[in-house]
Amino acid sequence: MTIPREELEKMVRSWLDMVEEITRNEGLPVIPAEKTGDPLWVDVRELRLKYLIPISRVKRFFDGLKEGKVYATKCPVKNVFFFPPQADCPYCMDENLEWVEIDGEGVLLTYTVVNVKPASYLHYPDYVVAIARMNEGFNVLCWMNVDDVSKLKIGTKVRLVVKRREPEGFLTYYLEPV
Ligand SMILES: [Zn+2]
Repeated sequence: MTIPREELEKMVRSWLDMVEEITRNEGLPVIPAEKTGDPLWVDVRELRLKYLIPISRVKRFFDGLKEGKVYATKCPVKNVFFFPPQADCPYCMDENLEWVEIDGEGVLLTYTVVNVKPASYLHYPDYVVAIARMNEGFNVLCWMNVDDVSKLKIGTKVRLVVKRREPEGFLTYYLEPV
């Protein structure tokens, strides 16, 4: 189920109005619980979160997305891949990891259709989250583009593609059946 943003705003607005009205009438924002009738104190506040995440040490990854490429990092000592890429190796503390463009081919390990979405994802249509084993030997977890989920089979060949996430329009990676 997709709830358009305007619809969400309306839902939140009407909820806030209701609590306001109860507070006006009763003097307290207290409502009965739906199932038990037990009194509930309603603490409603609107939150807008903004995260600022430093990406200078993994900027190559984001530059890669702009070129339609997906990069991982690799520890030359331990020969281990990190994806999503990280700047430091947790095994040998090496800060000078190699940047490797992922070949992008792999095999589907598992997937799930998300139709009960977190509040901030309600404006997206139901989406498929999948895990695939890449040819390089590490797993990728991300959204999967698939026309008919009922035909999706574990073990099917998949590839990583870079596409925009709408409606926001930012570049990100998806799995797709080959
Ligand atoms: Zn290492």
